Amino acid sequence: MPVLDRLLDSLRRCCRSLPDQRRGPNTTYALADFALARFAPFFMQSPSFLAHQRHLETSQGRSNCQTLFGMRKIPGDSQIRAKLDAIEPAMSHPMFADLVAELDQCGGLDAMRCLDGHVLIALDGTEFHCSDKIHCPNCSHRKRGKSLPKAKAGDKTEYFHAMLAATLVAPGHNRVVPLEPEFVVPQDGHDKQDCESRAARRWLAAHGARYARFKPIYLGDDLFSRQPICKAVLDAGGHFLFVCKPDSHKAIEEFRAGIKLDERIDRVRSGKNWIVRRYQWLSGVPLRGDEKAMTTNWLSIEIGDASGKVTYRNSFVTDLEVGRENVAEFAAGGRARWKACPRT
Ligand SMILES: [Zn+2]
Repeated sequence: MPVLDRLLDSLRRCCRSLPDQRRGPNTTYALADFALARFAPFFMQSPSFLAHQRHLETSQGRSNCQTLFGMRKIPGDSQIRAKLDAIEPAMSHPMFADLVAELDQCGGLDAMRCLDGHVLIALDGTEFHCSDKIHCPNCSHRKRGKSLPKAKAGDKTEYFHAMLAATLVAPGHNRVVPLEPEFVVPQDGHDKQDCESRAARRWLAAHGARYARFKPIYLGDDLFSRQPICKAVLDAGGHFLFVCKPDSHKAIEEFRAGIKLDERIDRVRSGKNWIVRRYQWLSGVPLRGDEKAMTTNWLSIEIGDASGKVTYRNSFVTDLEVGRENVAEFAAGGRARWKACPRT
């Protein structure tokens, strides 16, 4: 059976396993039809897919929804929303595991490996709903209007839903593979850092052990390069390569001060011009200023144009050994997170 058929099979299996809380004879549509209908527009990459399919169904008797997904009938948008709202998102998790298992078996995962056989999993917080009017009992909320005059500041409440997205990425690859999402819940905290940190640790506790066999290196922005998350990554059998900004890691800056860093400079062609990539690294750096600080390895990349002007600069911490041979690959890996996160 071709890979696509096996994946669609897994999707149908997952949709058919959803708990149907409807009672009585009102089952014109199977619950699986609702879930498959929700998935279909993404698969066909067409927002008007369902309308199109309904037209096909009436004019030709049989639609792609039926032949591709094995749906019996095609429900309407509002029916789909009403039925699926009650389904726990975690019910779709088996699909992610099946997808990664397929990738692994067909060799697709090997093409994404880097840094001596590791895979890269980007962790990133993202919001998928924000409104000052539309909200539900599961919304997180925050006060807005800090820039307004004092009397009015914080008057406005903004409601939002956020999640931690985990995504398999690789340098040089234009495709990414989404893994199980972890939703930020209102009790997670009052700032972005709290919320993402708790969601990341829940994700690692729930899924980290299962992905450990792929030797994952977790990527994340500066919010992640804190001891609790780094420790949670190691406890889950993974490694980390997190952005580490100087402003938020004063202890690292102080430790580095006065030390002559190892350096590697690559001059590479970029179109008609030459660019300079300058790497620095340092091993055995304490992540924070107290005596319980864990020890990490630090690296930085600076990209400059021919005139010497720096156009990009970033620094990272990792638990893995960094040296002259692999520092460029570490920097490329750290930057691969951008593929999963177009807003940065
Ligand atoms: Zn809500």
